[in-house]
Amino acid sequence: MKIYPFFIPHEGCPHTCRFCCQRAVSGQTQAPSPRQVAERLQDMLPSRGDGEVAFYGGSFTLLESALQRQYLGQVVPFIKAGRVSGVRISTRPDAIATETVENLVDGGVQTVELGCQSFCPEVLAASGRGHAPADTEKAVRVLRSRSLRIGLQLMPGLPLGSRAEALRSLRWALGLEPDFMRIYPTVVVRNTLLEDDYRRGCYKPLDLEAAVSICAEMLWNCHRAQVPVIRLGLQATDGLERSGAIVAGPYHPAFGALVRSRIWRRALWSVLPRTRSGEVRVHPADLSDALGHRRDNLTFFYSRGSRPAFRSDETLPRNHFSLDHQTYLVHENAAFDPL
Ligand code: SF4
Repeated sequence: MKIYPFFIPHEGCPHTCRFCCQRAVSGQTQAPSPRQVAERLQDMLPSRGDGEVAFYGGSFTLLESALQRQYLGQVVPFIKAGRVSGVRISTRPDAIATETVENLVDGGVQTVELGCQSFCPEVLAASGRGHAPADTEKAVRVLRSRSLRIGLQLMPGLPLGSRAEALRSLRWALGLEPDFMRIYPTVVVRNTLLEDDYRRGCYKPLDLEAAVSICAEMLWNCHRAQVPVIRLGLQATDGLERSGAIVAGPYHPAFGALVRSRIWRRALWSVLPRTRSGEVRVHPADLSDALGHRRDNLTFFYSRGSRPAFRSDETLPRNHFSLDHQTYLVHENAAFDPL
């Protein structure tokens, strides 16, 4: 599904989460006006399409209700013309009330993404979130009562967080049966309170290896629960790539590929012969994940005495590989501990 995103950085949000600097993350300093939204849609959209318009970046439901209506009102004509299938917004779990949701539904919103980030009260408090796990549960109930699609966002590596906490939070999130997940390991962004904590030595971010390892386990469990993960790691934007926007932490422009290839590494390593070559066949679209980013899975296998040769094979289904005439399913073989 094509997404036409509009970033409304920090608009409507009275909070100051320690990690948040929406302007740096989105690369935008100002929200578009409702009229600019309509003008850009007019330019961007094909004459007919089934994409969704997304309002990201702030807490949409904390905007003045008149402004919410104006933004959504600009999209409705495109929905009626069949050029947009609906709207998705992101907001905080404690900014969902029954009457708010009625306005969203009337304005064509079909999907709401909740930044729950963690289900550990101590982690939420230490991150300055100002909401509790119960707020997310309540928000999910309200959204589901109106048949809205629900996405949940988690952030491993927040202050006081740990691997166990990230996995417990995921178990809680999956128990709410979201339609999809996003997983953003915490990075230290310039001009945030977390930057102050980091510089004072009060906060230590996950390193890239730890973040990849935790997120691989999270992704594997989401796959097991049949919940798609539509984003792993912050999107590489001009703002983020600009020198100095990321102060510290596990930011990588290909973070999702690192995580997927880690699952492949575990699956392959569970069956690869340790002392000889073996021919591994994979679907061509899976080859880069199997080899690893910059072939680092291959380096891993070679450094441990295994000498696999990889071949593309279009007859294999995605997420499968064959070795010595036997076919394996990647997610079965990666075998993390289920939550
Ligand atoms: S609630 Fe969202 S927009 Fe507001 S400070 Fe926190 S992360 Fe940023």
